[in-house]
Amino acid sequence: SNTKGKKKEVKKETGLGLSYKKDDNFGEWYSEVVVNGEMIEYYDISGCYILRPWAMSIWDIMQVAWVTKSGESDLEVPIAIRPTSETVMYPYFSKWIRGHRDLPLRLNQWCNVVRWEFSNPTPFIRSREFLWQEGHTAFATKEEADTEVLDILELYRHIYEEFLAVPVIKGKKSEHEKFAGGLYTTTVEAFIPNTGRGIQGATSHCLGQNFAKMFEINFENDKGEKAMVWQNSWAYTTRTIGVMIMVHGDDKGLVLPPKIASVQVIVIPVPYKDANTQGIFDACAATVKTLNESGIRAEVDSRDNYSPGWKYSHWEMKGVPLRIEIGPKDFANNQVRAVRRDNSAKIDIPMANLVEQVNDLLNNIQKSLFEVAKQKRDACIQVVNTWEEFAEALSQKKMILAPWCDDEV
Ligand code: AMP
Repeated sequence: SNTKGKKKEVKKETGLGLSYKKDDNFGEWYSEVVVNGEMIEYYDISGCYILRPWAMSIWDIMQVAWVTKSGESDLEVPIAIRPTSETVMYPYFSKWIRGHRDLPLRLNQWCNVVRWEFSNPTPFIRSREFLWQEGHTAFATKEEADTEVLDILELYRHIYEEFLAVPVIKGKKSEHEKFAGGLYTTTVEAFIPNTGRGIQGATSHCLGQNFAKMFEINFENDKGEKAMVWQNSWAYTTRTIGVMIMVHGDDKGLVLPPKIASVQVIVIPVPYKDANTQGIFDACAATVKTLNESGIRAEVDSRDNYSPGWKYSHWEMKGVPLRIEIGPKDFANNQVRAVRRDNSAKIDIPMANLVEQVNDLLNNIQKSLFEVAKQKRDACIQVVNTWEEFAEALSQKKMILAPWCDDEV
């Protein structure tokens, strides 16, 4: 068709593009989009990836606290890198917790952990080293611990749905799948329609008193009796970024939700022959300044060694939610042209309404990414009652709702 031919031409001109389509070959599409979108580079050890600044900028936005640490001296004893911090922290919990006034104890840290995974490494989704947030808490009563487990689970739902625009389902893991050291595990589960598979998005565990027994984390309660604490641990990782890429990405590359995009608006000058080039560049700079001043993360791509067409493809590949073009006609009319990354819609915006309309568009893109993803996810949900229906639905890449007794056969 005409559009197909046109697409190929653009690709030839720019040297940018994806050779795999998301719906034709999801695995290859993902491997390509994470590299071409400048999120990662493959490293020559399987399961290890180089996180590039474009991915780190997303992770930075998702962090709600900073931990800074310095230290340049050599260590006297080598320290093993941990897969999670329960056994590192909890011996100190028994030292720090003496009486009920020391409770609750709540710690959170942002760090990296290593798990030498063997099955199916995938950038962001399953890597051998990853960045995460881990919370560890101790309470006097089980009720407080139970309440926090669900509060944190809600926080994780909020991060996925409100920031990454990815719909998730909250739930409790089976005995078989729960964190073995804990009492029960709750999880937010995302779904990838292209593969028909669920992905464990983040976990909030009630550890019960198992670790308290092991590490003797006791306290004197308000009646002066010796009691044992109730503990929780909870975490989410850079896997969130992989889920977001899989859900929103398309055949032109990444599609980043505005709330987590480090560049929300890319402004591109479109000079033309003898038009007022300097005026256009100045208008671009003024546009970025106005947007930045109102808290919108905007940048101008003023490089003169790339054509506007190349820049369009480049920033589409990197998933920037909104592109603003300023050409001679826009300049003459004191307006800009905005193009949405999610649905390619073009909107002319008078300079006087710039901030208001760009804010509206970004909010709209954020909402619509979630709604589209939710519609696609919901269309895959199937209720089944028999094993035959279950097997059939699974082969059709459905997300299955089935009765569950939690008994092992
Ligand atoms: P866990 O401590 O095992 O409950 O893991 C916490 C969360 O980390 C899980 O819910 C996953 O979302 C995520 N996760 C687990 N393994 C990996 C991995 N190899 N790479 C990235 N994320 C992971």
